[in-house]
Amino acid sequence: MPDCVFCKIGSRELQAMVVYEDPDFIAFRDINPMAPVHVLIIPKAHYDSLEEFQAQDANLLGRMMLAATHIARQERVAERGYRLILNVGSEGGQAVRHLHVHLIGGRQLQWPPG
Ligand code: AMP
Ligand code: ZN
Repeated sequence: MPDCVFCKIGSRELQAMVVYEDPDFIAFRDINPMAPVHVLIIPKAHYDSLEEFQAQDANLLGRMMLAATHIARQERVAERGYRLILNVGSEGGQAVRHLHVHLIGGRQLQWPPG
């Protein structure tokens, strides 16, 4: 997607604080962190949101979750606990229309979310 900020981070056209990369995913620190650890994990391929995913994408989604657990260990929050958040659409709070998973941790998180 030509004007997608996260596509540009994925292709390294735009800079970000990258903490993990493999052929399919890139993860970087959120520019406006809501906790000591706040990382965004994205597929390099553009999907507007989770709503675009089909059965053939199930493997990609599963591997994105595994990448998240790897990053949680790397960020040293795996043992204490952390949260993965996937906002979908406007009422779901999704501002950036390139699918991303938030990995948040490093402090006690509250429940329920707003
Ligand atoms: P969401 O509301 O789920 O769409 O979350 C989008 C997130 O992307 C927000 O937490 C923003 O702070 C973050 N964000 C937007 N632009 C950038 C950027 N260029 N680098 C890092 N994080 C960003
Ligand atoms: Zn994109």
